[in-house]
Amino acid sequence: MDPMLNLEVDMYGCPNRCLHCWLGHMPNKQLPDETDKFIVDYFRPFFGRIAYYSWMREPDFCDSYRERWFRDIAVSVNAVPQRFELAGFRRIARDDAYIPFLKEVGVRKVQLTLFGLDETQDRYVGRKGAFGEVMLATRRLIQGGIVPRWQCFINEENIREIGEVYALYKQIRAESCPEMEFFVHEGSCDGENRKLYPIRICKKHIPDSLISAYLGYDELLEEKDCAEILLGSGSHPDYRIEGAVTLNISNTLDAYLNFTHLSAPWRVGSLDADSPETLYRRLETGDIPALRLAKQVTWKEIARRYSDAGSERAFSLDDYKMYLFNRYLEDNI
Ligand code: SF4
Repeated sequence: MDPMLNLEVDMYGCPNRCLHCWLGHMPNKQLPDETDKFIVDYFRPFFGRIAYYSWMREPDFCDSYRERWFRDIAVSVNAVPQRFELAGFRRIARDDAYIPFLKEVGVRKVQLTLFGLDETQDRYVGRKGAFGEVMLATRRLIQGGIVPRWQCFINEENIREIGEVYALYKQIRAESCPEMEFFVHEGSCDGENRKLYPIRICKKHIPDSLISAYLGYDELLEEKDCAEILLGSGSHPDYRIEGAVTLNISNTLDAYLNFTHLSAPWRVGSLDADSPETLYRRLETGDIPALRLAKQVTWKEIARRYSDAGSERAFSLDDYKMYLFNRYLEDNI
């Protein structure tokens, strides 16, 4: 197995409850600072390089975010955690010291997520005032010399508003930030986002005006096309651990493969209850429920049971496979 391990640990939680959250919703809980050392030491005998992240959900959610970031770097082994052009928009809107910190640690662009305007944004983020915060965060980033990138999730419910968000983006770009970026997509169909399946965008409903800003538009299929491809496939789902390993560690110290949301079939084990040797053996041999069950079924069988061959909902083939496979796992675990 590759000697590189990324550990993404939910040490502080998240202020939001986004309706599209692919990780899935879970309670917030603060883990003691020393948990970082326990977790790194747990894996250290097996991996020569470990990048430690004290967040899996909202970055920099804890008030001591500066100290915390440098502690993440210090506790990592022969590796440096990355920033991924992410930051907490709630903090950008509230904390004057935050943008200088982001610049200090080399952040030049920050991605902000939008689902629509005003109440729609608040409802999708799960917090009143979220739309105002994203607008304020956008202004503050531009003033602070960091380029905002707006990511929009589109579905059947918010088509018109995403068009208005796109117009707003163009206005801000023209008036104050020529480098500002924008893209729109349908999102995956796991975690909380799967609950939005009934209102998933149909490819034919994507407005022409958004196609040039649509991520992966040319590869986007309708569900019926995905179903047809899979109904003709006698191969097994081919999820495997390759290259650097990334584990999501919940605030209950359970380790999950990061392929999809945190759920029982993707759980590798418990850092509390299982020995490091046991957990490593499971990773090395693929002895994880989802990977075991994948060998017992073909795409044809999964598609026959779960796909809607008349649906025009938009999917990338990989997202569709994960959507179907998770449904299969839930019925067979
Ligand atoms: S999508 Fe990100 S910000 Fe939203 S609830 Fe999930 S972890 Fe939190």
